[in-house]
Amino acid sequence: MKRALPLTRLAQQLLAQALGPGDLAVDATAGNGHDTLWLAQRVSPDGQVYAFDIQAQALQATAQRLQAAMLGETVTLCHCGHELLLPQVPAHWQGRVSAITFNLGYLPGSDKQVTTLVGSTRQALGHALRLLKTGGALSVLAYRGHPGGQAEADAVAQWFEEHAGQLDCQVHESPGPVLYYCTRRQPRAGT
Ligand code: SAH
Repeated sequence: MKRALPLTRLAQQLLAQALGPGDLAVDATAGNGHDTLWLAQRVSPDGQVYAFDIQAQALQATAQRLQAAMLGETVTLCHCGHELLLPQVPAHWQGRVSAITFNLGYLPGSDKQVTTLVGSTRQALGHALRLLKTGGALSVLAYRGHPGGQAEADAVAQWFEEHAGQLDCQVHESPGPVLYYCTRRQPRAGT
């Protein structure tokens, strides 16, 4: 039987439709840097990526991965929470970003107590929406197995319901995480 594509790979496959060379992109949860590297590879040579994480260890791992691929120049690493996404990225990025990705939960192989949290995740999603261009893509992978994970996944689901007028969404379920993948609709006249 053919094994289902892991949702991390599916997220990249879907984001690839919205992202190409020269584009702007954001990794809201750099973690070990797999998604940051992937975004940098897609947008290089002329595009730019901002990547956020609250743990120095995560940013070090991400920086090393980027340096090994000679893509350090493509990415700005921010040692701060993604709830500061909007004030951290250049003002002219608003409405011009092609892809934003969130991989929630804890850093694999690290302190499982340090996780993304409902309040800041919701705040960051609001910022992300302000940055996305029409047709731009937002992917959120939410894990439900750790304490607080289910509540966060529920909050993410609710946030997408609240913003259904602005986003076209697909939900991909698995026994583990759930993936939300959305693209920003053309704003209606007068909004
Ligand atoms: N995409 C990563 C895994 C991300 S793990 C990979 O492929 O390896 C989730 C990450 O979110 C952790 O590194 C954690 O430190 C980070 N995190 C937790 N709270 C955060 C916040 N408020 N803002 C940004 N990152 C946060």
